[in-house]
Amino acid sequence: MTTLTPILSENWDRPDSFTLEGYQATGGYGALRTALGMEPDAIVDLVKKSGLRGRGGAGFPTGMKWGFLPADNPNPRYLVVNADESEPGTCKDIPLMLANPHVLVEGVAIAAYAIRSSQAFIYVRGEVLHVIRRLRQAVADAYEAGLLGKDVLGSGFDLDVVVHAGAGAYICGEETALLDSLEGYRGQPRLKPPFPAVAGLYASPTVVNNVESIASVPSIVANGTEWFTSMGTEKSAGFGFFSLSGHVANPGQYEAPLGITLRELLDMAGGIRPGHQLKFWTPGGSSTPIFTEEHLDTPLDFESVGAAGSMLGTRALQIFDETTCVVRAVGRWIAFYAHESCGKCTPCREGNFWMVQVLDRLERGEGTEADLDKLLDICDNLLGRAFCALGDGATSPVMSSIKYFRQEYIDHVERGACPFDHTKATLWG
Ligand code: NAD
Repeated sequence: MTTLTPILSENWDRPDSFTLEGYQATGGYGALRTALGMEPDAIVDLVKKSGLRGRGGAGFPTGMKWGFLPADNPNPRYLVVNADESEPGTCKDIPLMLANPHVLVEGVAIAAYAIRSSQAFIYVRGEVLHVIRRLRQAVADAYEAGLLGKDVLGSGFDLDVVVHAGAGAYICGEETALLDSLEGYRGQPRLKPPFPAVAGLYASPTVVNNVESIASVPSIVANGTEWFTSMGTEKSAGFGFFSLSGHVANPGQYEAPLGITLRELLDMAGGIRPGHQLKFWTPGGSSTPIFTEEHLDTPLDFESVGAAGSMLGTRALQIFDETTCVVRAVGRWIAFYAHESCGKCTPCREGNFWMVQVLDRLERGEGTEADLDKLLDICDNLLGRAFCALGDGATSPVMSSIKYFRQEYIDHVERGACPFDHTKATLWG
């Protein structure tokens, strides 16, 4: 039986968890002191050896990304934290930054030192003003205490950190669109390669990491790689937040080793809301193909979820019970993608627009069976053909829902109406 591993969330119950004093009272900034006594390359090696993989969704090895910065480029190096959390269902970075902003600031200082950068940016989703204020306060307090700025803790290392507020565009969570936005341009994805490691912010070598990835670094420096690899699986080491939402008795953040299953998480979360059964769920936000009851025991690590036909993504477990109309849920997600598509590439701009029309008429019972082939055809023209991952992500709920719930789509067609009473699917209905 897997148990929870509260590490980043360990002190969330403390009323002063977000203050510098509260953070330091629980050992905070000890890892930065340790790190500043190490060679930068030794920290990169440590993070490589830990096997930490990006917690923003893609799971790219963090230490390897740091190691990609070209040694011979004379331009300044930048560290950019992607705090533009916006994926439907994904809600881990925002509570983390609110409850414990200093673990992120400490992680930024260690990571910047490791990659030899003296300028870091934290790009935060614009809507979360309360988080932006809290982060800015944390950064100001860290400057005041000599933990940021000139000659950090007397080490000779200089670091400036800017908390930058985005303007609430989902596309700006895509790392290259984020960089464009940070430079003051309209946020639209760039062609990769070159990856940001080679030509990122102001065309300079840049590391872009997710909040949770960077916030995990102090614990690795403090406790070592063996401690980290003792959790999780061989290829998906460590711990992470599993965010349970929807038709679950106790939704919230469950910090656990990678490889835990939904069945185990549901046991801890009090199960599906009383009197109901699991129908479908997302392992990692709406951009990951949906799962059903048959995947309750799939270990939630990168490899196992991939082998079962989905992606671990951001571990945003959105849970839906039998009262949910899958056509309506998927239609709602695709309306989001259509709204958030930046419009730069035709497959994403047009594909999402048309999928909304088709899903909408299917849900109202005004579609035909041929509409299912139409949806799959649009997905075929979108998957792998869009400029960035937004297009690919939109195909996931469509294709997987048709795979598992084809009959439910056809029921809508045959009845000429949606067979669900939507008032029953609401949590307060
Ligand atoms: P990606 O696989 O293209 O890249 C992942 C990271 O690895 C990037 O930082 C990229 O620069 C780096 N990288 C990959 N190959 C590289 C190479 N050869 N050299 C140097 N660096 C390299 O994925 P992505 O488009 O950055 O992200 C897609 C994921 O984002 C999806 O899987 C989804 O789960 C997730 N996502 C998260 C949110 C959120 O709110 N957190 C929102 C939308 C999507």
